[in-house]
Amino acid sequence: MNYCPNCAAELEQAQHDGESRILCSKRCGFVHWDNPTPVVAVVVETDDGIVLAHNKNWPPKAYSIITGFLERGETPEQCALRETEEELGLKGETAEFIGFELFNGKGFSGEEFNQLIIGFYIRASGKIVLDENELDEAKIISREKLKGWDTATGRIVQRWLETQTAT
Ligand SMILES: [Zn+2]
Repeated sequence: MNYCPNCAAELEQAQHDGESRILCSKRCGFVHWDNPTPVVAVVVETDDGIVLAHNKNWPPKAYSIITGFLERGETPEQCALRETEEELGLKGETAEFIGFELFNGKGFSGEEFNQLIIGFYIRASGKIVLDENELDEAKIISREKLKGWDTATGRIVQRWLETQTAT
């Protein structure tokens, strides 16, 4: 973003209420808050194990739980169930909340993210049919072999695993 969406003046980095922000250079009142985008991430488990998927744009060995943007008017639980069906072709009844994580930084495909990840667990059934616009492969891992990894989605997996060993 280079220009103010209100008045089209240039934007600049400046102090605002004690924080460095991107502001309108004419001080029309516009502040680029850079708020994180809410994204749902889902640990999907079938009778065979946990489903991890590979995005077409990722390096060959990078797999993750599925994610998706929250849509207008949708609860995070509804979003998690919808994404599970759209991306994997699997159906679940309920989405259990796992926790929140912040995703600030580069993703597997190199772009910068600023997201609030809302983690859910869904017990799902059906036959996997991948959304070919996004995903090109899926693999199933047993609970015992599943490990978290050092990204926001990996930490959601880690948190879920911790709740499983605690019971
Ligand atoms: Zn302005």
